[in-house]
Amino acid sequence: MPSYKFVNFLWDDAKAATLDPVGRLVYRSNLLGSDQRITNTGGGNTSSKLIEKDPLTGQPVEVLWVKGSGGDLRTSTRENFSSLYQQKLLDLQKLYAARADKGLKSTAEDDMVGMYPHATFNLNPRASSIDTPLHSFIPGKFVDHMHPNAIIAIAASENCEKLTREIFGGEMAYVKWMRPGFELGLAMQEICRANPKVKSIMMGQHGFISWADNDKACYTYTLDCIEKAAAYIEAKYEAKGGDATAFGGPKYQALDESQRRATFAAILPWLRGQVSKQKRFIGTIQDDAKILRFVNSKDAARLAELGTSCPDHFLRTKIKPLYVDWNPQTENLAALKAKLVDGLEAYRKDYAAYYERCKHANSPAMRDPNPTVVLIPGLGMIAWGKDKSESRVTAEFYNCAVEVMRGAEAIDRYVSLPQQEAFDIEYWLLEEAKLKRMPAEKELARQVVVVIGAGSGIGKETAHRLVKDGAHIVAVDLNAEAAQATAKEITDKYGLGIGVAGTGISNCGPAIGLAANITDRASIRAMLDQVALAYGGFDSICVTAGIFVPSDTTGHIPDEKWATTFAINVTGSYLVADEAAKTWREQGLRGNLVLTTSANAVVAKKGSVAYDTSKAAANHLVRELAIELAPLVRVNGVAPATVVQGSAMFPRDRVIGSLAKYHIPYTDDEPTESLVRKLAQFYADRTLTKSPITPADQAEAYFLLVSQRLSKTTGQVITVDGGLHEAFLR
Ligand SMILES: [Zn+2]
Repeated sequence: MPSYKFVNFLWDDAKAATLDPVGRLVYRSNLLGSDQRITNTGGGNTSSKLIEKDPLTGQPVEVLWVKGSGGDLRTSTRENFSSLYQQKLLDLQKLYAARADKGLKSTAEDDMVGMYPHATFNLNPRASSIDTPLHSFIPGKFVDHMHPNAIIAIAASENCEKLTREIFGGEMAYVKWMRPGFELGLAMQEICRANPKVKSIMMGQHGFISWADNDKACYTYTLDCIEKAAAYIEAKYEAKGGDATAFGGPKYQALDESQRRATFAAILPWLRGQVSKQKRFIGTIQDDAKILRFVNSKDAARLAELGTSCPDHFLRTKIKPLYVDWNPQTENLAALKAKLVDGLEAYRKDYAAYYERCKHANSPAMRDPNPTVVLIPGLGMIAWGKDKSESRVTAEFYNCAVEVMRGAEAIDRYVSLPQQEAFDIEYWLLEEAKLKRMPAEKELARQVVVVIGAGSGIGKETAHRLVKDGAHIVAVDLNAEAAQATAKEITDKYGLGIGVAGTGISNCGPAIGLAANITDRASIRAMLDQVALAYGGFDSICVTAGIFVPSDTTGHIPDEKWATTFAINVTGSYLVADEAAKTWREQGLRGNLVLTTSANAVVAKKGSVAYDTSKAAANHLVRELAIELAPLVRVNGVAPATVVQGSAMFPRDRVIGSLAKYHIPYTDDEPTESLVRKLAQFYADRTLTKSPITPADQAEAYFLLVSQRLSKTTGQVITVDGGLHEAFLR
């Protein structure tokens, strides 16, 4: 087995032997994608030219299996690969040659993309990638195109061609930067024709492509190239002084970890508000040693301004990040905010100027001019995306860019892609068409909703209901394990997404679980700060936590139980609202607060004096807070009644107690489920709609109130009680 220092050799002959040829392609792709030093999330593609039986003729025919549009090598399955008749792809060259308007970035070139579906083998529905001609026109049977940081470092060096020759001898050819497409495929074909000994090609400002006549050899050779590049870079890097002198050496010192956390928590919701004026963003922070070394360095300002290189990277990171020259040793938080305000304004102006300078007559309209990557000395990086997965990808890509710059500066001088070329990728009509084909965003997309009481019952159901419409969920409960269990159910169901980045809790997926005690202001603040670190801020809060403490057998409630009832059902909701209001005001984005009251708030009953009066107070708290928090936050309440199913407030004992009270027959060994059903039906029969009320019925009301569907409603309480005429609000 070959030994490597800078990549992992993971090929297992025994495993590969169990797979069919397409299975081996998926296997090879997953192995390559699993190592971040080999390729970035969503970046690169792989192919195999295989002999298959043509369904039209029954004859053997050569088929190109190549990773299709979208998807990611690490997580790819068979469905991510397109399959095309290799000969038909080659025949397209005649069609293209006949076009008078052919050429790099021409309409003729883009038109070829529309021809690929005509070459589809066996009705495979996967759309072909823009890189398909690269794989087709290179004669190798197995082809890998990767974006390794070590190779891109060479590709983004001023003297790339010379360095390629020096490091790889003649076996790796060089092609200057060309926007991927038909012309790049033809250029590669020409290189192979002119020099049949060439085994790989360095792609200027982009990555590399390599091939072989069997799949294991292709995989191994890809690793060989990356190993060679990395070894060359690291030797030069160490000789220049290594980490101590990277990026010109340090200009600032990193704040310690607790200071970084506190500063991030203090600025993130505010910054989210600043960058979310057009559309809301979700954040990811990264403050590991590598990022800190970069943001603290003397060269950070210069290098950040140059922007990223690999087209994959800047589609997410934008052409450049916002670097804020704040001195973490001598300046305070207010100075940081002031510098961010100025920096953002300059960035937006700069972006608009770039758009104006580079646009063509048919370019799509200018996109959001806010930065997606913000770099702050002493602190680290903040990356923004439309959801958690995308913001992690953005952060990952800037991590890659930093590695690329480190390598390029170690061996030569880093050069980024010319702005016009960057623009022609960012605003490529094919890219725009791809964006337009994407499904519409879900109703609660780009939103973070904190659900307090999400460990069970209505809260848990609400968390599941909201995530279905695209919300990120912070499941909060007094019981940390219950909160985390709800978050895990959501993450297991919807997946973590792609993108490998984020420090600590910021490395999370679409849901997190946190503990908080809503009777303790400090506990609420600590929880909201964790939310800021995880997602950058929050939009809405649903408080479903509540307590029912029954009176004793004589109908009396002890003082401390009265106090507990009010502490949780009234003061808890108030403290959440009051503490969250600080963050909402900092963030400056519209949000919603939904409290939980009860039908009991308006119906006096024997035996529940504390609970009923606490809920009456909660009803009025809704109205008071609606005035207090207007116009930024709408405040409404949901008044459920007698939800027995899944409720933590109805343990078996209480269910049996109620059944006995209402003279409903049951037996002691009856399963709890059956007892619950009986009680639920008894309650249902007392309502106008005669059906048991479920947590899902309640969750729908919380969904309505955090969505924009009732956007003109505030200070109101919606009853979800099946129709209890005695509880009608008046
Ligand atoms: Zn590429």
